[in-house]
This record gives sequence, structure tokens and C-alpha cells, in this order.
Amino acid sequence: MENDVTTRLDGKVAVVTGAGSGLGRQHALLLAKQGAKVVVNDLGGSVNGVGGDSAAADKVVAEIKAAGGDAVPNYESVATQESAEKIIKSAVDAFGKIDILVNNAGILRDKSFGKSDLKDFSEVFQVHYWGTVYCTKAAWNLMNEQKYGRVIFTTSIAGTSGNFGQSNYGSAKAGMLGLMNCLAIEGRKNNVLVNAISPGALTRMTGNLGIDESFMKKLDPAFVSPAVAWLASERCDVTATIITAAAGGFGRLHYFETKGVQFDPSKPITVDMFDQQFDKINDLSTADPSTAGTEGKTQERLDTLSA
Ligand code: NAD
Repeated sequence: MENDVTTRLDGKVAVVTGAGSGLGRQHALLLAKQGAKVVVNDLGGSVNGVGGDSAAADKVVAEIKAAGGDAVPNYESVATQESAEKIIKSAVDAFGKIDILVNNAGILRDKSFGKSDLKDFSEVFQVHYWGTVYCTKAAWNLMNEQKYGRVIFTTSIAGTSGNFGQSNYGSAKAGMLGLMNCLAIEGRKNNVLVNAISPGALTRMTGNLGIDESFMKKLDPAFVSPAVAWLASERCDVTATIITAAAGGFGRLHYFETKGVQFDPSKPITVDMFDQQFDKINDLSTADPSTAGTEGKTQERLDTLSA
């Protein structure tokens, strides 16, 4: 690692969406502390996405400035293409470029699928999934042209493992991982890296979950932000990587494919054949770290055919 490759963010310009409270606020404060100039975006609505108030973004900008950093507020919603373009434009207008985009803004409309209204489904998608698409699209060509970009998505355990009552939210959070995987391939050659965090923290979104006060302190959203600041830096040399971060614990979450079975594809393959081999197909103890699809076990099985 070269000496000048640093975790510092001096000279870098960052946009953090939904930075008026919770995790986004902590990300913005830390990115600014690391030296980045920050656009603090937040439309200042309620946790279910109703209303708006410029005070949320203004307050965080004032905090950054009081600590000696540089920031501007932005009050646009991530949820339309036009307003998302304005968010990215505000970085270019204020600071001349965009190097880092933290897609963090979010809302909740929790309900079991049977009782859910598909209008809520669509609004949750509009903020989490489409908001991430719109903001990333608006920044993408600028980052690729300048040969530097760090894009961070915010996924959730509701997307990677599921959670009762969060079918809308979980599917939006999982959908963005497909986007991450594809953009990581497209951006890599231009040093535009696309990663995700899967956080856990007590914020207004989670409520206090009925836990005691000493444990509540351990779930401070500030404990998530070092992962975001690292992923935003030149030191970050990974792409398409999901980092879990909660209560000071960090890990990597990844898909695994089992060794599986390879039948002879020059002969018919029956349901009974699949049934008889299902335990082997399903045996996670044969999995090892690899990407899914053509770089993983599927490729290894295809290789045995041509060997
Ligand atoms: P939060 O409610 O404190 O913060 C979300 C922020 O996004 C709010 O300030 C809100 O005003 C803003 N926002 C909402 N809709 C917006 C829009 N259309 N445009 C711009 N800003 C908008 O919640 P949080 O817990 O800090 O959540 C931050 C992100 O982390 C979300 O994407 C959430 O889904 C994700 N997340 C949080 C947890 C957790 O444990 N807190 C777990 C997994 C994922």
C-alpha cells in the first residue's frame, strides 16, 4: 500500500442523503471530520416519509461548521429523478465535483404482506430503491469521467435475511444489492467502487426496541460510520462488498454457493434425479466463499464438463 493512499478525505466532496438524523447524520459528521466537504441532504420528513423541514439538514451543517468542517445543506427528496439530480448538482455547484455518495435516506411502512397496501410498497421502493438509483445515476458519469468514485448503499438484514412485516422495505433493500453488483463491474475500471453497509443502530427508525439503557448506548449510530468513511476513502480497494456494522462489531456478508451436483447434460434430467441429490445440492457445508454465478460453483461445475 503506497504511503499517500490514505483514509483521510481531504479534498474530497461527499453527498450523504438523509443526513439530518440517525445514521446519515453520523456519516456526515465523520466524513467532514476526515476532511471531506459534505452536502447534507435531508428533506426532514417523519419516519414514514410524510412532511418536510429544512431544519434537519441545517442543524447538521451547523454542527459540521462548528467543528471546523465544510458543508452545505440540501432539502430535496431522493425519490424523484429530477430532485435527485438537484442533490448531486448541489455538490458540483458548491464544491466543484462529487467523489463520494452515501445513499442513506430511508422511510418505513411496516405491515405484514397480507395486510399491506401496495401503495406503501411503491413509496418505500421510491425512496430506498429508486432513490438509490436516481442519486447514483446522477453522480455516475461524473465519477467515471474523473476516475474516482466511492458509492455506498445502505442495505438491511431485512433484505439479506428477511424480517416479519418488512416485505416492502426488505425487497427494496435486496434490490439495491443487484444494482451494486452490476455497477461494481461497470465502475471498477474507472476506480469507481460500489459497496454497501448493513447497519444496526438505535435511531428514530428503530425506536428503542424496549432494551435497557446501557445496551442502548452500545447501539449508537456513530459506531457504524467508520465503515462508511473507510469505504469512502482511497484506502478502500473492495467493490460489491457488504459490510455489516452494529454496536462496534463489523463483518462481511456474502452469498455462498454449495458444491452441488453435476448431472450429464447430454441426457434427460428428471425430477427424481434432482430429488435424490437434493441433500447434496442443499448442503451448505460444501460452500466456500465465492461470488454467485459464473465466478462461483456454477463455473466450477461447468469446467468439469469441458475438462
Ligand atoms: P432515520 O429515520 O433516523 O434517518 C433517515 C433519514 O432519511 C431521515 O432524516 C429522513 O428525513 C431522511 N429521508 C427520508 N426520506 C427521504 C427522502 N425522500 N429524501 C431525503 N431524505 C429522506 O433512520 P436511520 O435508522 O438513521 O436510517 C438510515 C438508513 O439506514 C435507512 O436507509 C435505513 O433503512 C437504514 N437502516 C437502518 C438500520 C437501523 O438499525 N437503524 C438498520 C438497517 C438499515
